[in-house]
Amino acid sequence: MSVDAASLLLPWYDRNARVLPWRAPPGSPAPDPYRVWLSEVMLQQTTVAAVRGYFAEFTRRWPTVEALAAADDGVVMAAWAGLGYYARARNLIACARAVAAAGGRFPASEEGLRALPGVGDYTAAAVAAIAFGQRAVVIDANVERVAARLFAFADPLPAGRPRLRGLVDSITPAERTGDFAQAMMDLGATVCTPRSPGCAVCPLAAICTGRLDAEQYPVKAARKVRPLRRGTAFWLEHDDHVLLRRRPGKGMLGGMLALPSGPWSAADPGLAEAPVDADWLDCGRVAHVFTHFTLDLAVVAGWASDRSAPGEWWPIDRIGDAGLPTLFAKAAARGLSRADIDREDPAS
Ligand code: SF4
Repeated sequence: MSVDAASLLLPWYDRNARVLPWRAPPGSPAPDPYRVWLSEVMLQQTTVAAVRGYFAEFTRRWPTVEALAAADDGVVMAAWAGLGYYARARNLIACARAVAAAGGRFPASEEGLRALPGVGDYTAAAVAAIAFGQRAVVIDANVERVAARLFAFADPLPAGRPRLRGLVDSITPAERTGDFAQAMMDLGATVCTPRSPGCAVCPLAAICTGRLDAEQYPVKAARKVRPLRRGTAFWLEHDDHVLLRRRPGKGMLGGMLALPSGPWSAADPGLAEAPVDADWLDCGRVAHVFTHFTLDLAVVAGWASDRSAPGEWWPIDRIGDAGLPTLFAKAAARGLSRADIDREDPAS
């Protein structure tokens, strides 16, 4: 590439950088690594709009990595509820504790960062570049799209990622690497958007090989069809309380409070994993798409004669404070609405 991408992009970034609560303005001293790390973990698979409120709440309650490390697991998990991908929240706590145990300072190198719990290649590169000014190749979905178009990169992804990474490496400057990474992210978010990219106002248009058929990039390999799993969630009431259970630490939604639910598999489990014998009422179904499968969850409601079933009996009027993950919040809403109708006459 005869003109270097950074010399076109950085002046654009200086004028157009998005103002985000975890960022420092272009050219300013680097922001607090704790805030950069927290935002990058939250932003994986999630939009900026969804993250803003969570970021504000987390940094208000836990302004330092030491404060987060000292927090109760269940409280952090509940604060995370709704952001999804709960393994990230468990790793967040583990990582905060590892950093606090090492004196409260994040390592500055990509290698040191990658050794922390839950910190993968992307997060290590982003924190090293943005918080420590290290030269690192930072590629999120926005950067991937911009780079694929810039180079008219025809190899299907994800198999083509290592080669695309080499191309991004070739345009990553030694100076202002953090600003360059954020400039690529901002260009992808605001100009080189998935549909109808704004090539007419793009600072890279003069060197962009793929701009004439931009929407054809990045080329994606055909998606595999997600398998379907089925399960049942049980809304079990007794005396204005509902039975919740904490899910095992490992596995889907691990460590989160949830309605009792047996294993999810291809066969419909029906009522096989019911926490008690009861006259279960059909409350409909909730569909939820996970990364590797789609879940079809039946929801049933019943009334217990006592509170001997193991778990946490949670006050129904405070169910909103239980920090249920989105799937179980939807299931609880179904159970609750049906139970409201039938509470007057549970036998009907
Ligand atoms: Fe994207 Fe168009 Fe800019 Fe190329 S010229 S990087 S396709 S917005």
